[in-house]
Formats: sequence, structure tokens, C-alpha cells
Amino acid sequence: MTRIFSGVKPTGHLTLGNYLGAVRQWAEVDQHRADALFCVVDLHALTVEHDPGRVRRLSRHAVTLLLAAGLDPGRCTVFVQSHVDEHARLSYLLECVATDGEMRRMIQYKEKVARERARGSSVRLSLLTYPALMAADILAYGADEVPVGDDQRQHVELTRDLAVRFNQRYGHTFVMPRATYPVVAARVMDLQEPTSKMGKSHDSVAGIVYLLDEPDVVRKKIMRAVTDSGQEVAYDPESKPGVSNLLEILAACVGGEPGKLSGAYTSYGALKKDTADAVVELLRPLQYRHRELIADPACLEGVLRDGAEKARGMARPTVDAAYRAIGL
Ligand code: ADP
Repeated sequence: MTRIFSGVKPTGHLTLGNYLGAVRQWAEVDQHRADALFCVVDLHALTVEHDPGRVRRLSRHAVTLLLAAGLDPGRCTVFVQSHVDEHARLSYLLECVATDGEMRRMIQYKEKVARERARGSSVRLSLLTYPALMAADILAYGADEVPVGDDQRQHVELTRDLAVRFNQRYGHTFVMPRATYPVVAARVMDLQEPTSKMGKSHDSVAGIVYLLDEPDVVRKKIMRAVTDSGQEVAYDPESKPGVSNLLEILAACVGGEPGKLSGAYTSYGALKKDTADAVVELLRPLQYRHRELIADPACLEGVLRDGAEKARGMARPTVDAAYRAIGL
């Protein structure tokens, strides 16, 4: 059976980008067709300035939202990365096959370094080695597929390079993973800055729809989204990034293709109103289920405990084999 691994970082509240680009596919498709693991990757949240209590809270919050989005622990494995030691154990071995040059070439590294410097923070070494930990997340489970948004393309490519190199040098140990992407909304853009992606750890709250935003907040954010000069509603991400982003979001919510949907609109206002309504409807069941889940904290503890135990059992044989293969 195909094995799938994917994760989400507890660096902020989950966004519409996380949902449309990743989590919805996990819940609606992946957990039903494969042996799937979904992980809240809290070690990755320590690569930039963080508050310990906030990371702990956000990890639990993220697991609760994944369950609210429809992940079923009876069908898939939901867990927190730091609860399973194998990730850090394997990451170190992968740092020993990676080069610093290939780590420095990562676009996300460059972007995050710029952001940290702009904030006046120093850059943590773990930000550079982040892709080795991500490769460990994937390779420890022998994942065949890694469903991700477009922003993770380069990291999954690097994971494949590391797997090939390790296998060639030390004998076949790792399964070769491949990234899979959603057909629409692989890259949901910030509503206020439609040339950068909607990211949960960005500072501009007005451009981000969070999964637990109340309907009136969702409407306000979408109605105030930056559009483009001109009045024609057309799908053209290059010259009309704002309008195209709204069309992508609408298409992801109601089905269809962004280019075809554009024909139904003669004004930006109508497009925004329909997009806002569609997002509110999309989030309604998730928000309802979230309220039920937070009323039952014992259920979350059980999910976390069982998830970690299952994940550990799957990762340990591969990571032990990697330790033996490399000479330890
Ligand atoms: P973030 O940038 O919000 O911190 P994560 O690194 O936690 O995101 O990513 C979790 C998943 O959500 C990944 O598969 C990632 O590709 C996807 N994702 C994140 N932001 C977006 C976006 N704006 N559009 C589409 N997918 C996204």
C-alpha cells in the first residue's frame, strides 16, 4: 500500500492556504487511499524566534484543527514530531550526507534569513539544516508520496537527492519519495500582498484567512483584498495576481477552473462577495467540529499518545537500519 507523509508547522494558526493547499487533500483523499501519516512538525517551529509556551499551545491547536478538518485517527496516523525521537536521530545522519552548499541554495532559507534579519533576530543554524530534518521526516517512514503545496517543491527534491546519495554510499536504505500537488490552489496568495504566499507566520494579519476566523472576519478580509488596476475579471496570475488569487480560492471552494469562472463576473465586488460566501461555507463544518473537539481535551491526549506510538513503531526499523548502514 502506498505510504504518505506530510506535515504542518505550529508557527501560527492554520490558514486557508494550509487547508486548500494541503490539509483538505489529506482529509478528503489521502487518508482513504493510502497508509498516511500527518505530523505537526514542532521541531521545525524552533528554527525561527519562538515562544516555548506558544509553540506547545499551537501544536495542540494544530492537531485539533487537523481532526476538525476530517483526519480520522482510525484511518491515518496523526502525531507530533518531537514525540518521536527518530526524526532528530535520522536528521543528524542526513546532515552528514548533505552539503552546506545545497542547504544554502534553498529559496525558503534565503527568504527566512531576510525576514529574520529584518526583524533584528540572529539566524539560527537550524534554519539552514531544516531541509535535513524535513528529509528525515519523510525518509524515516519510507513515504512514497509527500502531498505538499508548491512552496515545498525544492525541499522534497533535496530529500530525493539525499536519499539517492545515502543509498549509493551506504547501501539501499530509503524509499524514494515524490511530491504531489493539488490541482488548484497549490499556492494561495496573501490577500493584501498577492505576490507572496499566504503564510501563517507572516505579520500582516489582514491578508490571511485563518481557519477559525468568524464569518464576518472572513468576509471583511476578502472584501478588502487587494485587486488589480483595470476592471476586467480575468485569470492571469502574472498581470492580475490579486484577482487570479480570488478566482483560485473560489474555484478551490466551489469546483471548476479559475479561468472559466472568471467569465461569470463583470465586477471585482461580485467576485469578492461570492468568494467570501464560498470560504465561509467551506469553513463552517470545520469550525463546528472544532468546537466539539475542544470540549473534550482527553480525546486529544489519547490521539497524541496513540499517534506517537504508532509512528515510532514505523520509523524505528528504518532509522536503525540507517545507523547500521552508515557505520554505527
Ligand atoms: P506555513 O507557510 O503556513 O507555515 P507549513 O510549512 O506549515 O506552512 O505548510 C503546511 C502545508 O501547507 C504544506 O504542505 C505547504 O505546502 C502548505 N501551504 C502552506 N502555505 C500554503 C499556501 N499559501 N498555499 C498552498 N499551500 C500552502
